[in-house]
Amino acid sequence: MQCASGMSGLCKKTFSRCGVSDIFINMNVDDGIELFGVPHEELEDFFESIGERRFRARQVCKWIYGRGEFDFSRMTDLPAELRKKLSEISRITLLDAVEVARAEDGSAKFLFSDDENRFFEAVYIPDERKNKHTVCLSSQVGCKFGCKFCATGKMGFLKNLTSTEIIGQLHYVREYIRQGGNDLTNVVFMGMGEPCDNIDAVLDAISVIVSQFGFGLGHRRVLVSTVGIPEGIEAIMKSGLRPKLAISLNAPDQRKREKIMPVAKKYLIDELMKIVPEYARYSKRWVTFEYVMFRDFNDSLEDARELLRLIKNLPAKVNLIPFNPVAGVEFYPPDDRIVLRFQSYLLANSVVATIRRSKGRDVSGACGQLAGKYSLR
Ligand code: SF4
Repeated sequence: MQCASGMSGLCKKTFSRCGVSDIFINMNVDDGIELFGVPHEELEDFFESIGERRFRARQVCKWIYGRGEFDFSRMTDLPAELRKKLSEISRITLLDAVEVARAEDGSAKFLFSDDENRFFEAVYIPDERKNKHTVCLSSQVGCKFGCKFCATGKMGFLKNLTSTEIIGQLHYVREYIRQGGNDLTNVVFMGMGEPCDNIDAVLDAISVIVSQFGFGLGHRRVLVSTVGIPEGIEAIMKSGLRPKLAISLNAPDQRKREKIMPVAKKYLIDELMKIVPEYARYSKRWVTFEYVMFRDFNDSLEDARELLRLIKNLPAKVNLIPFNPVAGVEFYPPDDRIVLRFQSYLLANSVVATIRRSKGRDVSGACGQLAGKYSLR
């Protein structure tokens, strides 16, 4: 594969700048069976189906994910004949970022595109103090659920991303992190789209992320954030994968939740609460409730009391997220002292409650701000 960013931007291979801007062009997608971002077992099946031993999957994965080698002809521990066969019948499709926006706080937002110019984004969130280097991935282009406070929701739904496109984001951002002398530590599915609405591709991607032949991250280093689609959560439990689960709750009761999240009409809050202990038992970890706080909507002490009533006996903690402004959305961030008062109330009543200060606001990379800006043009 050749370098596609020769004219300008950051070289895909070396991650050094070779031009004046951060503009990339995409690589061509060759025909053939895709091997990138595919679960290990499926790769083994593929090798068996072409008359090869299953362990060839392990060898190829070591080249792809371990050594960053994507040219079959250079996978020197494979027989020459197999290398030739692989170049003829299969392919490895990587993503190049169309644009990289670096925020002042060290985080960065990456814009990718498929071959039909549908744009999606990933975000790198460093936490040097804890030596945490997190990548936030998109699972869809746009979203069907139309939450009132979310930039992605305003786009409507364009498509589900494939596991190749999901892992493509991760691979690209991991290289970027490594270029800065660090390594990937955590992955969150909190970017564009609802992961439980594209659960097959998300589970395939997670299996690559946690596989020792893939990215080798522990299950607890992967987090799926969902509005709470029971079928999706059940699919995770059936898969045997154990990512952490966060439920985007954002309101202390059914009535308020319906006002800002149309999906709440279909999946009732009381039903959602029943899944929480089930998932906590399954994953052996507490579930997180994400609670985006909007000024004068869900930030009062009365709201805190309602929230406490709802979640008090559940194996769950609360992550309070002061709203990040989104163009065209008529909600506002709450005052800092109101957020602290809300947190103190929960803490005083034995609920673990943290406040998330979003990063990347200056590049619209914070929670709820991702909108694949080119798609919106
Ligand atoms: S918050 Fe999540 S589910 Fe709601 S519109 Fe945005 S991306 Fe979709």
